[in-house]
Amino acid sequence: MKKLKDKVDDGFNYFHSGILEELTTDKKFYVQAFMDYIEYLEEKAKNVVASRKCIECNNINTHDTDSFGFCTECLGHL
Ligand SMILES: [Zn+2]
Repeated sequence: MKKLKDKVDDGFNYFHSGILEELTTDKKFYVQAFMDYIEYLEEKAKNVVASRKCIECNNINTHDTDSFGFCTECLGHL
């Protein structure tokens, strides 16, 4: 997976280096759509991690959990 992520990062750098601007209008449109969608999915994935359940109270956290999975409220009671 790390290798795939590296390839995608390389792809972003490649297209941002000016290559994107050199593409024909339709190619540029679709490459830009891929890049926008990847960024959209990355943002969604971040939100899933941020909203995971607290291992103590089982509430789905809107706040950060620590590296052990406790919400900030439960950490205050421990
Ligand atoms: Zn909790």
